[in-house]
Amino acid sequence: MTSFDTVAIVDWSGGNDTGPRPRRDAIWLGLTRLGQDQPPAYLRNRTAAETALANLIDTERSAGRRLLIGFDFPFAYPSGFAQALTGRADPLAVWDWLEAQITDTPRANNRFEVAGAINRALGQGRGPFWGNARPRHDIAGLPRTKSGYANPFPDRRAVERAAPGSFTCWQLAGAGAVGSQVLMGLPVLTRLRRRFAGHIAIWPFESLDAPVAFVEIWPSLIAGAVRRAEAEGGIRDAHQVRLLARALSRLPAPALRAMLQVDAPEEGWIMGLGHEDKLEQAAAAETGAATPLAPPPLRDDCFALPAGVDWTPVDDALALLRTRLHPVVAQTELPLSGALGRILSRDVTALRANPPQPNTAVDGYGFAHASLTTGDQVLPLVQGRAAAGLPFDGTVPPGHAIRVLTGAALPEGVDTVILQEDVTATDTHIAFRPGLKPGANTRRAGEDVTAGTPILSAGRRLTPADLALASATGHATLPVHERLRVAIISTGDELVEPGDPAGLGQIFDANRPMLLGLMQQFGFEVLDLGRVPDNRAALRAALDRGASGADVILTSGGASSGDEDHVSALLNEAGAMTEWRIAVKPGRPLALGLWSGTPVFGLPGNPVAALVCTLIFARPAMARLAGADWQTPQGFDLPAGFEKSKKPGRREYLRARMRDGRAEVFKSEGSGRISGLSWAEGLVELPDGAAHITPGTPVRFLPFGSFL
Ligand code: AMP
Ligand code: MG
Repeated sequence: MTSFDTVAIVDWSGGNDTGPRPRRDAIWLGLTRLGQDQPPAYLRNRTAAETALANLIDTERSAGRRLLIGFDFPFAYPSGFAQALTGRADPLAVWDWLEAQITDTPRANNRFEVAGAINRALGQGRGPFWGNARPRHDIAGLPRTKSGYANPFPDRRAVERAAPGSFTCWQLAGAGAVGSQVLMGLPVLTRLRRRFAGHIAIWPFESLDAPVAFVEIWPSLIAGAVRRAEAEGGIRDAHQVRLLARALSRLPAPALRAMLQVDAPEEGWIMGLGHEDKLEQAAAAETGAATPLAPPPLRDDCFALPAGVDWTPVDDALALLRTRLHPVVAQTELPLSGALGRILSRDVTALRANPPQPNTAVDGYGFAHASLTTGDQVLPLVQGRAAAGLPFDGTVPPGHAIRVLTGAALPEGVDTVILQEDVTATDTHIAFRPGLKPGANTRRAGEDVTAGTPILSAGRRLTPADLALASATGHATLPVHERLRVAIISTGDELVEPGDPAGLGQIFDANRPMLLGLMQQFGFEVLDLGRVPDNRAALRAALDRGASGADVILTSGGASSGDEDHVSALLNEAGAMTEWRIAVKPGRPLALGLWSGTPVFGLPGNPVAALVCTLIFARPAMARLAGADWQTPQGFDLPAGFEKSKKPGRREYLRARMRDGRAEVFKSEGSGRISGLSWAEGLVELPDGAAHITPGTPVRFLPFGSFL
């Protein structure tokens, strides 16, 4: 298996923590997932990198995506070293050995000590390692320079002899040296390999039949693309990982296979060496829109029902839809102004704290609480003031106060604010009573949200307040799903378009305007495919148009198994339909199937049944297809304002509304009564079993709004 859904590239570092601000010569992670380039991530130290990599592997694994991770340091040493060090000519034995010896924290590590010890054991203290980045700290057995250096092993691997400009893994210090990266990188990879045992294959030592592959890469293979990107500004390491992830993910399959076909069981290899032109080409390939992120298709059997079940209870039908369906829409990134109502495609965390700095919650005067004395207070005022967006530059000395306005960042020397109404003020002094608590009337930095905390989770439909939260915490854009496109078809020889003359036996199409409106309320894009007579060729043509232009097709009418029920007949003929006989009233069988891979919901023709089936079944199913969480309408219990007996066997939905705290139902249950749909403001849900409702019996009321 040599195709990958996600490609990550890591630019490693052998040094210490590089601080909070993104900079070069640090660890960088580039990522292209399902063809979508993600912004490169800056990782300040190896601990952070190990966590980020473990999270990435977890995420991709649980989404069922195959993942390739490239690291820019050698996976093995020149031949003979593994045998001498571990007694086995197996590079992965060196991984384990190093993992056991190396200690590493963001501030300090023992790489030079370990190299010195190896030199003393295998090379009489003169090699194979050389170079020491610690100016005043000599290491026994580790030469600082190449004078007096002697290497008992080959200086280079075969792949390095074939890669002009590459460095040897023995050199531990100096510009461009990779030796430290190997010593400090392999232990991290070893731990990941153990943690995800059986799920990671190390190339080219293990066969690539695991869902995750680690490969060795070298950014110099796309030096041209990196140089062009760097000319536009930005950090080189970030460009390297971004472009290499892009290149590997856009490689045509045969080129990728050719690059992975390597026989180097002891020394390893740089993936892509000798194929630089292909990589450069792929790195330059267009991004984003040209390769929309294509989710996997639905399974052919996603609408199959368990054999032998006659009438499926509503909850079982919903549980089946819930497990079988998954998002079918692509992902994109939108500015906040275009994201309202869209479904978030990834979890989002705060990039910035809210509030970012401590500030005052009121108009008043600020001072240091610790500088107050006992009893009544009189404090001199410093010149100037702090207002929102206009911070005070200086420091407020102990025992002094400063004028502050709501939202102003607290100046140096201020931790407490008194309300202006609680002071007596002159131009130069304020006076107030004792009793104020430290920190009063201020907001702590991050008291709402701290940077890095999750704020919104994937599958959520974005509200106006979500946009406020995203903006406040530093997001200008959000990752969202493309809108689900829903095609609507009405079927029936009797239907005419509103406005057209209607003859004897003809009725105006009522379902289509209703369904188009509902889909808009759900936030979907609609494709109106009009009316189709009860004729298979016409219906086939309409379904074809739906399958090519939409993600879901909703039909109404013709869904049962009568002579004129062409929706079910056609889908049956195509071998792509299941008649879902659901124990629900109102509602005839639902025809669920795939037409050229596009899901079709064949709704009953009766407008009342069509609406109920849309809300109860199609709505949550379409939410899943659109990338949203499964949606259960939230209702509440109300005393019934009516009387009714129901038999066991079918769950029932009555057109209802709430008046004076009671649930009223429409005077008739006739399923052709469209006036009752319009009258209603929600549904009363009666349980599957028998029920006898009298006025005052609690019944479940589901407002129409809870389905949106
Ligand atoms: P069918 O499911 O095709 O047997 O239709 C059931 C009932 O619903 C019949 O009385 C149809 O005339 C009616 N019906 C079907 N489609 C529509 C529609 N789009 N608007 C109004 N009534 C419809
Ligand atoms: Mg019909």
